Amino acid sequence: MRASNGLSPRAPMSIATKFRIVVGVLAAILIGICAVVVVQVSGIRVDLRRVAEERREAEQARATLLDIQGFQRWVELRTSLPAMQDAAIVQRDQMAHLDGAMRAFTAMVDEPHDDPSRPVHERTEEVGRRRLLALLQAARTAVAAGGGAGQEWVERAAEMCDLAGALLDEMAHEAHAASLDLDQRSGAAQRVVAVLAAVALVVLFAVCMFVVRGIVRPLRELAAGTRAIGRGQGHADLPMRGGAEVVDLSREITAMASQLESHQRELQERVEQRTRELVRSARLADLGAVAAGLAHEINNPLASIVACADGLQLRLARGIGALAEHRDDLRTIAEEAERVREITTRLLEIARSDSDQLGPVDLSDAVQAVVTLVRHRFAQAGVTLRVDSAHDLPLVRSNQQELRQILLNLLSNALDASPARGVVTVRVRRLGSDVVLDVDDAGAGVPPDLVDKIFDPFFTTKRAGQGTGLGLTIVQRILERHGGHVEVAQLEPGARFRVRLPIAVDG
Ligand code: ADP
Repeated sequence: MRASNGLSPRAPMSIATKFRIVVGVLAAILIGICAVVVVQVSGIRVDLRRVAEERREAEQARATLLDIQGFQRWVELRTSLPAMQDAAIVQRDQMAHLDGAMRAFTAMVDEPHDDPSRPVHERTEEVGRRRLLALLQAARTAVAAGGGAGQEWVERAAEMCDLAGALLDEMAHEAHAASLDLDQRSGAAQRVVAVLAAVALVVLFAVCMFVVRGIVRPLRELAAGTRAIGRGQGHADLPMRGGAEVVDLSREITAMASQLESHQRELQERVEQRTRELVRSARLADLGAVAAGLAHEINNPLASIVACADGLQLRLARGIGALAEHRDDLRTIAEEAERVREITTRLLEIARSDSDQLGPVDLSDAVQAVVTLVRHRFAQAGVTLRVDSAHDLPLVRSNQQELRQILLNLLSNALDASPARGVVTVRVRRLGSDVVLDVDDAGAGVPPDLVDKIFDPFFTTKRAGQGTGLGLTIVQRILERHGGHVEVAQLEPGARFRVRLPIAVDG
C-alpha cells in the first residue's frame, strides 16, 4: 500500500522495540540518578569527616594553648620570684605543661593522611607549627637542664602562647567553615534529590501513559472488536495501531473473520438450498397422499359419466328411451364432469408454485378447497372431518396457495394424531382484528416438553419415512411472512393448532 504522497506509510513500531526503548530510557535515568546520589553522598561523607577532623584539631589546639599558658605562668613566676620555688616541683610542673603541650601538638600534627583538611593546614599553618615545635623542644631542653627562666623565656613563652592562640583561631575558623560547607552540600543534595524524584515521577507517568495508550488500550479495543465479530457485528473496527504485534493480530483476525463470514454465507446458502429441496419433497409427499385420495374422488364421477354415457348410447342405438331420460343422463354427465374439473383444478392450485405475493384472500375458500382434497383420506382412516366456518368473514392478507399449504399440513398432522373414529374440527371465525382458524383433534396432544420443539426444522416424532419434521416449520415461516402466527394448545383430549391472520379488508 502506498500513501497518497507516494511514500510508503510508516510501519508501526513493534511493542518489543518500544519496550526496549522504554527500558533503555529508564535504565539511563536510573544510572544517572544513582551517579548523582553517589556523588552527593560521598561529598557529604568527606564534609562530615572534615568537620570531625577540624573539631578534633581545634580541641587539641585548645589543649596545647592551655599547657603553654601554664608554662608561661610558671616562667613568669620563676622569673619574678626566683627565691620562692621549690626547684624540683617547679621543674616538674613546667615539664608536665611542656609534655602535655608537645603531646597535644604532636597529636594535632599527626593527622590522618586522608584528612581532607590536610592540604589547607599545610598551606596556612606550616610556618607557625614549625616555629611552635622548635620553641617547645627548646623550652623542654632548657627546663630539663634546670633553666627556662628569665626575661628571654618570658618573651619566648609569650610568643608560644601567641602561636598556639593563632593555631586555635585557625582551627576554630576551619571547623566553622567545614560546618558551613556541610550545610551547603546537604542543602544542595536535598534539592538534587527533590528534582530527581520529580523527574522520576514524570518519567513513570510517561511510561504508564505509554503502556496504557500503546498496549492496553489497543488490546482492549481488539478484545471488544473480537467480541463484536463473535456476535456477527462485522470487523471494521479492529484497531490498526498500538504496536506492530497488535496491528498484525488485528489483520489476522480481520482476515479470519472474513473467511469465516464467507464460509458461513456458503453454509447458509447450502442449508437454504437443502431446505428448499426438502420442502419441495415434503410438498410432493403430501401431494402424493392427496393424489391417492383424489384418484378415488375422481373415480366415482368418472364411473357415473361412463355409466350414463353407455346407457345413453345404448338407448339411442336402439331408438328407445324418452327425451327426458336422455336429458337426465346428459345433465348427470355434465355435473360429474364439472366435479372432476373442480377437483383437478384444486389439485393444480395446490401443486402450482404460485407467486408469493400477498393480497386479500378468503380463508373459508381455502378451507373448502383443502377439505375437498383430504376428505377421502379422512374417510379412509375412519376419522370424521367437521368444518365450522362463520359467514361473512373478512378477507385476510395472505396468499391462496400458501394458505392451502398451511391447512394441508395442519389437517395431515391432525389426521395422523387422531385415533380411529376420532373427530377433527376446523373452525374459522373473526377474533378482534384477526381471522382465527382452529384445527382441533382428539389425539394424544403435544407433550408440554415438546411444545417448544415441534416448530423446529426436522423435528418429528413420527416413524422414519412418515414424517419429515418440516410441516409445522413451513406453517410458521409462511405465517411470519404474512404477519400472522401459529400456536398450540392442549385439549382434553387432543391438540388445538390455532392460526391467526390479520384482516386485509374489513368486510
Ligand atoms: P411431521 O408431521 O413430518 O412430523 P411436523 O413439523 O408437521 O412434522 O410436526 C412435527 C411434530 O409435531 C410431529 O412429529 C408431532 O410430534 C407433533 N405434532 C404435530 N401436529 C400434532 C398434533 N395434531 N397432535 C400431536 N402432535 C402433533
